Amino acid sequence: MKNSYREYVLQCLVCDRSYQPHEVSYFCPHCKVDGALDALYDYPTLRREWPKESLAHHQARGMWRYDRLMPLSSTQFIPPLLVGNTPLYAPIDLLGKGSRIKVLIKDESRQPTGSLKDRASALAVAHAMQSGARTVAVASTGNAASALAGMSASLGLHNVIYLPRSAPREKRAQMQGYGAEIVLVDGQYDEAFEQCLNACERYGWYNRTTGINSYMSEGKKTVAFEICEQLHWQVPDLVFVPVGNGCILGSVYKGFFDLLQLGWIERIPRLIGVQAEQSNFMYRAWRSDQPMQQTERIAPTSLASSINVALPRDRLKAMRAVTASEGEFMCVSDASIVAAASKLAASTGVFPEAGAASAFAGLLKYAEQHPDTAQTAVILITGSGLKDTSIFLSDTAASPSRVFPHHVPVTLTETLAQGITA
Ligand SMILES: *Cc1c(COP(=O)(O)O)cnc(C)c1O
Ligand SMILES: [Zn+2]
Repeated sequence: MKNSYREYVLQCLVCDRSYQPHEVSYFCPHCKVDGALDALYDYPTLRREWPKESLAHHQARGMWRYDRLMPLSSTQFIPPLLVGNTPLYAPIDLLGKGSRIKVLIKDESRQPTGSLKDRASALAVAHAMQSGARTVAVASTGNAASALAGMSASLGLHNVIYLPRSAPREKRAQMQGYGAEIVLVDGQYDEAFEQCLNACERYGWYNRTTGINSYMSEGKKTVAFEICEQLHWQVPDLVFVPVGNGCILGSVYKGFFDLLQLGWIERIPRLIGVQAEQSNFMYRAWRSDQPMQQTERIAPTSLASSINVALPRDRLKAMRAVTASEGEFMCVSDASIVAAASKLAASTGVFPEAGAASAFAGLLKYAEQHPDTAQTAVILITGSGLKDTSIFLSDTAASPSRVFPHHVPVTLTETLAQGITA
């Protein structure tokens, strides 16, 4: 296959300095770990040479169909698992007959390891192996790690995972099954983050950790590419994104941004970052008049473990996503997340984990607050409910018939773009 990867530069979000890829590792050397980098491509050339119609004939699979917007120099180490190419469903009347909001569900629970994190981990292993790394490591509350373990297993790559002891057992089982080396950390995510960072510096391992590794947004952004392609380049009005570290939200913005530079879409949708009330740093920072550094870190207590974060590590990209798209941050209660998870599962058959269901809880709240909007809204269902079954099993789990007494099943249709086949 002809190598279609393109040259790119890395630009710091804080100081605007630009670097060639070989000059930096994961973040801006000047601003240190706060200096998140953007990979910027030669958009004018791509615009001339890469018509969107050619995607239909592209030989690569899943997320690699957009390889010209990927920061790699070779196709050699792409994991063989099919990542991306997830369905976009259009449930009918999911919000009830009265609602004029048209809902679309991007179902990332179908990824190889069960979450959107596969898009980032697939890029991480390819990037690591291209850089000559023999070991990859990550600190994670669960999904990033199970994704890295799965992608590594597919390539026979040694991987080390720093996992808080409190991580859901389903995710830990997955990593063990994939043969990862697991370091159980007594403490929260922040402790795992530090331990992983220290080990990578000491042993020269490749660090996939979100917020350290600026490349992760370049993998996750492909979800926005697929949404646009599945809608025949008609962008939705709103995209609801669950927010923990803020990486997914920042990445979704970057995906739309790239396509706007190419002229493939005409605008960026309003991005709605949804946080749990008990883990709402971004929401508080966004509402406040003070600079983000002044926002207090509060120990997070949400049951939605994948969005339960004291200090979002990708907060700069997340804040930019919302401000530049004229979107907003909102918060939802744990009870509404559990109820939304049950409603989505029972109404559509799409089975979300709590973190993912927060996007739907956000949409339900938004629809209540804006009863008259006629808009198209995508909810990103970022991970599978099988990854943390406790919310469906506990005594307090909301059965839809109790929470929604007039619950009626809805019908799913699938939106498929030309050229995308399962
Ligand atoms: C990681 C994750 C999130 C949150 O993504 P961030 O990039 O941390 O904001 C949401 N849902 C699921 C299922 C996740 O795994
Ligand atoms: Zn910088």
